[in-house]
Amino acid sequence: MQTKEKLKQAICEAVDRRQAEIEKIGDQIMANPELGFKEFNTAQLVADTMQSCGIPHQTGLAITGVKGVIRGKNPGPTVALMGELDSLLVSDHPQADAKTGAAHACGHNAQIAGLMGAMMALVDSGAREALGGNIVIFAVPAEEYVEIEYRLDLHRKGKLSFLGGKPELIQKGHFDDVDLAAMIHTHGSPEMKKAAVVKSCNGCIVKLIRYQGLAAHAGSAPHKGINALNAAHLALAAIHAQRETFKEEDTIRVHPIITRGGDLVNVVPADVRLETFVRGRTNEAIMKANIKVDRALRAGALALGARVEINTLPGYMPLQDDRNLQKLFLENAQMLFGAEECTEAGHRTGSTDMGDISHIMPAVHPSMAGASGISHGSDFMIADRQMAYLAPAKALALMAVDLLCDNAEKAKEIMAQHKPIMSKEEYLAYQNRIFQKEIFDGQTATAKILSA
Ligand SMILES: [Zn+2]
Ligand SMILES: [Zn+2]
Repeated sequence: MQTKEKLKQAICEAVDRRQAEIEKIGDQIMANPELGFKEFNTAQLVADTMQSCGIPHQTGLAITGVKGVIRGKNPGPTVALMGELDSLLVSDHPQADAKTGAAHACGHNAQIAGLMGAMMALVDSGAREALGGNIVIFAVPAEEYVEIEYRLDLHRKGKLSFLGGKPELIQKGHFDDVDLAAMIHTHGSPEMKKAAVVKSCNGCIVKLIRYQGLAAHAGSAPHKGINALNAAHLALAAIHAQRETFKEEDTIRVHPIITRGGDLVNVVPADVRLETFVRGRTNEAIMKANIKVDRALRAGALALGARVEINTLPGYMPLQDDRNLQKLFLENAQMLFGAEECTEAGHRTGSTDMGDISHIMPAVHPSMAGASGISHGSDFMIADRQMAYLAPAKALALMAVDLLCDNAEKAKEIMAQHKPIMSKEEYLAYQNRIFQKEIFDGQTATAKILSA
């Protein structure tokens, strides 16, 4: 049997040999973006690639997820290597889908390219002979928490339990056989160097809000109507008035959008809809800020005598990477790029559902360079294919080998030292408790609480 160092070298060579195929996957997904829970073509590409590598796999998990497995020669723990299938909607992005406006402005196409490259290299190098455990290759849906009305409708029809990909996969039991999880996000920030781990990320809850007023002629009889847009406008101002009360260390982010602002300009708006996240560094901070946001939302309805329906939905948990997995990632990244190209960054204020995974098992969510432009912006591009597609393929595969070689000593050691923040059951109970629908009547100043 080859030594671990030789195997790791063989993996890097295998990735380089597969360069053209890996780049083609990344470019093809970039050119064919699909929003979360609708990534059917991307999932098909993943399934076809698994097929061509002889990897047994399941499809249609949480609608579009694809899960393959590389079984090691000997039994042992299971490491999941993951990539996210979904795009965003940035309609003025040059590579946006002309019909849907979807665009890969977060680099998830590179995640899938890297994941497929890691899989190819593990297969080509014959790594399974050296593994004491299994490697799950998991293409997961819907990391971006978007199109909330659409997803809430799927939830009401019983097609989804949660509105994000990884929470849904956890709920459906697709992580039950996974012991450790790793994925690599792409970044375009020079201060993050070529490879970075972060201290933590904000978690979030998500809100879908509907103001109901009364339609009337906007010119001749506005006094007979109830203007739902004005109610929403006051609520937004009231949310902004809370900002000075948010503590710096809680890194609260509340960023509402209006998804429906009225129907016709000569009719007093009677149906106005908002969406917002309430993000923060800890779950407690999020829930405290959420109380203030709810007060602000009611205030708008109260002033105008409108009705407001506040749907509060579980979002994502704050990310807490396993420190030992971070160290292992950095060791391999330093081997690939040198220590000066790797960094440990502080808290980030975005959110990811890898946070949910990190609550129930050792997980790591580093990022690697290769992109340029503003994340989630119309100028976000893959600027360096080698860095964005091939380097993560190597880093993922090398980490998996380190974890599972030598009878999975490293994986077992990390699992033994890891204290999960929640059990799966506690996690699901926590998230399920967040579902709430409140109807506040501004005429009577009374609220009714219903389940979402
Ligand atoms: Zn994103
Ligand atoms: Zn992303």
